Amino acid sequence: MKTSADIRQLFLDYFAGKGHEVVESSPLVPANDPTLLFTNAGMVQFKDVFLGNESRKIPRATSTQRCVRAGGKHNDLENVGYTARHHTFFEMLGNFSFGDYFKREAIQYAWEFLTVSLALPPEKLWVTVFEEDEEAADIWLNEVGISADRFSRIGAKDNFWSMGDTGPCGPCSEIFYDHGEEVAGGPPGSPEEDGDRYIEIWNLVFMQFDRSADGTLTPLPKPSVDTGMGLERLAAVLQGKHNNYDIDLFQNLITAIVQLAGIDDTTHTSARVIADHIRSCAFMITDGVQPSNEGRGYVLRRIIRRAIRHGHKLGLKQAFFHKLVAPLVNEMGDAFPELVKAQPLVERALALEEERFADTLDNGLKILDQAIDAMADKEIPGETVFLLYDTYGFPIDLTADIARERNLTIDIAGFERHMEAQRNRARNASQFAGGLSENLIIDGETVFCGYDHTRQEATIMALLVD
Ligand code: ATP
Ligand code: MG
Ligand code: MG
Ligand code: MG
Repeated sequence: MKTSADIRQLFLDYFAGKGHEVVESSPLVPANDPTLLFTNAGMVQFKDVFLGNESRKIPRATSTQRCVRAGGKHNDLENVGYTARHHTFFEMLGNFSFGDYFKREAIQYAWEFLTVSLALPPEKLWVTVFEEDEEAADIWLNEVGISADRFSRIGAKDNFWSMGDTGPCGPCSEIFYDHGEEVAGGPPGSPEEDGDRYIEIWNLVFMQFDRSADGTLTPLPKPSVDTGMGLERLAAVLQGKHNNYDIDLFQNLITAIVQLAGIDDTTHTSARVIADHIRSCAFMITDGVQPSNEGRGYVLRRIIRRAIRHGHKLGLKQAFFHKLVAPLVNEMGDAFPELVKAQPLVERALALEEERFADTLDNGLKILDQAIDAMADKEIPGETVFLLYDTYGFPIDLTADIARERNLTIDIAGFERHMEAQRNRARNASQFAGGLSENLIIDGETVFCGYDHTRQEATIMALLVD
């Protein structure tokens, strides 16, 4: 069996053999982009190269990039525990051409790597192109010679990529793996596509145009290539698993979790969610994020609290999350030495956050249960959501997550009304006191942290509602 470590190495070696410079993963906090919450793709560290603001000696690169998709444009937090293929933290294998090769080589390399180096059967693969990209369609159908039965043309929503509202953009071509008819779901572009039968493994982005503010597309003088393939999804394919959480990378983590919980169900959703969350949380802290009430730190805090709540569901009432750092380091320390160095720091930060949330979680859950018992309909009142948020430290998405598990919804508008009232009280209080503080202290804990925090919650809700 090919391990994830083998696959990672095979990928980098393949592209090194094609003249690509092997580049280290950059940190999760992007160095060159304050607008981006976390590094969410392999191309992020090369953004300035693609924009032409920076040049590299070698115009080809390959990497395995640690990524987080738990906020902003790409938010997969709500998918974790619900699909077989999404993580908040994953590794993206990528090859990049900076004005060097273009569609033909990118497609040929991808196909050769999958079907020759990894010996995947072509009849298990499905390819899509952007509906207007005749050039890519021609290469796939007539040069590579894939079957027209496993090929589709897709619209801009999934198959046209852009860096922002203006700047580099272009069509994509994606490769999917067919996990077989026992899994529900149809091929890409079909009405049943939402299932998990055909899982997207590789996205090839052809940066072909420069979009101006008025929307005009001008061909780039030196078109480029950016590709991304999820290591965990590829490992699932090669290890004969349908669910990413069944691959080798997750087994030690999940075993550690079920052992701590004293259960033996290694497919328990909560165990999978916790295994996902320890990876994102540990790497965020490694890369300099600390739990806090705003920005990146608040994303981290929200994920930690969700993990602790899932532990609670498994009967883990004592601090446990920080104990998973050691098995994670065993699993990933070789590929990411920075994690080994940061281990004590990560453990401390997680233990502290667990301590902080332990008491309020238990009490908050009791309050929530009482409120649910008293409900006449299927919506948790805004007042309860607010009380949990304000006094018990339940980020609003945590309450929403619990609600979703029980087929309930939360009253967001009601929550916001309470939030607004709170804001007015805080404003008045600080006027009377003549102070500048926007924080309220309840039970010795700072629970309301001013307008940024509020805005943050509003953004989170916008994402949840999406
Ligand atoms: P999906 O449609 O499955 O959500 P995507 O189109 O959002 O994937 P891309 O942005 O094209 O993904 O990213 C490139 C590759 O990274 C994907 O083809 C997939 O293999 C991997 N990938 C994307 N998101 C995740 C995730 N949340 N967890 C694991 N792998 C991911
Ligand atoms: Mg996605
Ligand atoms: Mg997709
Ligand atoms: Mg994609």
